[in-house]
Amino acid sequence: MIPAHLDFRSLKRGVSIEQVLADKRLLERMRRRGDQIVGPCPVHHGDNPNAFVVDRRKNLWHCFTGCGGGGDVVELARRLSGGSYRVAAHYLATLVDLPPPAWGMTTPPARPFRPYTKRLFLDPRTPWLKQKGIRPQIAQRFQVGAFYGHGFLAGCVAVRLFDPEGRPLGYAGRRLDAEQARAWGKWRLPRGLPRNTLLYGYHQAAGLRRGGGVLVECPWGVLRLAQLGIPAVALLGTHLSPVQRKLLHDLPRVVVLMDGDEAGRNAARAVSMQLANTVAVHLPDGLDPDDLSDQQLARLRGHFLL
Ligand SMILES: [Zn+2]
Repeated sequence: MIPAHLDFRSLKRGVSIEQVLADKRLLERMRRRGDQIVGPCPVHHGDNPNAFVVDRRKNLWHCFTGCGGGGDVVELARRLSGGSYRVAAHYLATLVDLPPPAWGMTTPPARPFRPYTKRLFLDPRTPWLKQKGIRPQIAQRFQVGAFYGHGFLAGCVAVRLFDPEGRPLGYAGRRLDAEQARAWGKWRLPRGLPRNTLLYGYHQAAGLRRGGGVLVECPWGVLRLAQLGIPAVALLGTHLSPVQRKLLHDLPRVVVLMDGDEAGRNAARAVSMQLANTVAVHLPDGLDPDDLSDQQLARLRGHFLL
């Protein structure tokens, strides 16, 4: 039960979005722009630094890319803490009447990312991977599969992440529940993961530095191409960071194969503009690389100069 004095109206008046962001240690990734707070979207775990905008006067938020979510402080708390308005209201009640966070004073420094190096048991024979055309042998080699335990990766197909030198960083989880994936984004990433410094599959892609490779958005494209002996790496998103740009710049050739949607087309354009060694292959609307047949994927070999 929500106490009577904590009805939604008083919660919306009594708690600022800024307080929620500070409490969840998200404020440290954001910046002030006049009456706005701007930063990467914590709802869909995006990395675009301009996606998420808070209007401090109206106490409203909106995500301009990715999830496209938005609303008041109750809606934000609900999206950040598990789906129910009741849970969100109880959480917000703990923040009522707290003083507003002071910028640059009480915000604790971001905790450094600590890699998770333990190897988990993952089932490479899960139907979900089979449906994507990913064979158990390749899933095993890349340490990808269904996770049957509890915690962070529960209900996910997990993907082990490594830095470009091949040091393990931890696991990302692809949510399998369609409703959860819609509300929270498809991927769960370890908190603080330096995703801008990695290209998925980079250290595993044989021949990448000698002949170049295919750049896709998602691990699934990397695995499908690796099965055909075509080196590939994934951005884990649609934003190209300076470190990723440097890694790709050093390759003889990059075939850019983004998803067939607006975000994918924008990403392909941005990557092609920033790198001279690219050739872009565009997919029809609604198609992702892992929707293609092996035969269609194998034709990408024609884009490599050898
Ligand atoms: Zn979002």
